[in-house]
Amino acid sequence: MARPMLTASPYEMVSVETASSTIVELAPVLTTGQVAPWTADGRVLAEDVRADGPLPTEPRSAVDGYAVRAADRGARRLLGEITAGRSDSLVIGPGEAARIMTGGVVPEGADAIVMVEDTREEDGQVFLLREPSAGANIHPIGNDLDAGQVVVSAGTVLGPAEIGLLATLGAAHVAVHRRPRVAVLATGDELVEPWETPPLGCVRDSNRYALIAAVRDAGGEIAWHGVARDDEAQLERQVRAALAAGDVLITSGGVSMGTRDLIKPLLESIGTIHFGRVNFKPGKPLTFASVGSKLVFGLPGYPVSSLVTFEVFVRPALLKMGGRRTIHRPRVEVEVEHEIRPDQVRPEYQRAVVRWQGGCLYARTTGSQGSSRLLSMQGANALLEIAPADHPLPAGQRVPALLTGPIRNE
Ligand code: AMP
Ligand code: MG
Repeated sequence: MARPMLTASPYEMVSVETASSTIVELAPVLTTGQVAPWTADGRVLAEDVRADGPLPTEPRSAVDGYAVRAADRGARRLLGEITAGRSDSLVIGPGEAARIMTGGVVPEGADAIVMVEDTREEDGQVFLLREPSAGANIHPIGNDLDAGQVVVSAGTVLGPAEIGLLATLGAAHVAVHRRPRVAVLATGDELVEPWETPPLGCVRDSNRYALIAAVRDAGGEIAWHGVARDDEAQLERQVRAALAAGDVLITSGGVSMGTRDLIKPLLESIGTIHFGRVNFKPGKPLTFASVGSKLVFGLPGYPVSSLVTFEVFVRPALLKMGGRRTIHRPRVEVEVEHEIRPDQVRPEYQRAVVRWQGGCLYARTTGSQGSSRLLSMQGANALLEIAPADHPLPAGQRVPALLTGPIRNE
């Protein structure tokens, strides 16, 4: 027989807030490297990038039309044509005009552009259907960007707009943060691979693959993944291999009170456990430790517990390590559409679908909230933060919610 069963955990129960702040404080922001922005979508900028001059650098036409002097009246004599990308030096005198295309440099002397739709051209002259006011259809210097302005700031994820802006600025290299390298280790004698048929008492290992996807979604890179049996020596070998590969180790299973829950004793022997229990549902036995400079998250084995504890506790740490400025999900208030049964003692994070209708956010939970029922995560776009209570919350009650995905409209 293995160890005797303990009836009470030796670990102090910490609050969600204490657990979160302990993790975020210990998570280091990772170093940076230089990349070409156009190869770097999804990376996190590590420096403020400023405009070295105004944009545009000279007044440009916003439309296809005619460059004129607003104070003139009547037909204007045409001097020539200005197209985008050309810098011919025309000067518009009184009573004169030039054809100009969108993006063309507004010629000296002109102070307005008349859209071609508002004109008629005949025999070298242009007639205006209505007279423009000064400045009409001209993008002045600095219309889009001011000289010296921070255009993309440190901590921003590079998406289409940022990559376009960095290209506009001619930034050939920018500093971005290294992605956190994460090892994922599933533990349990009962685990088989997804392509295997589980013998009696066994289950397919879903946590490993769900966590790998969650890590990538949080900007992490999978450095290693594997499975360990509930055996001290094998577990230690696998944990050491995983620690050598990544900045962060995420394990699943083996952190609760069973005789084959070996993660906590192992982490005690090779590192420091910062906390080993959180007042939280689902996932009370969540364990957070350091081994040298590496962070270890011991997630509980039930599929829902492992993904919800990842979402609430691990994801913000990975985002911080990857240099993100915003590491927490948006918190909103939603109205529940049906009765909610809170846990009597622990704050519970119930999976829900939040939708927007008539100016209000409404939430329905995803059915049975059991920790083994992974279906309760599917389609959820929110975690309702339900405070402990010994009475049900009625439909219509407002509760805080973390938005984990896009809001629906139907
Ligand atoms: P544990 O926290 O190790 O006691 O695991 C609790 C329960 O979660 C186990 O009985 C399994 O049914 C389930 N479980 C543990 N690890 C996994 C995994 N990697 N994939 C799917 N289910 C798991
Ligand atoms: Mg286990």
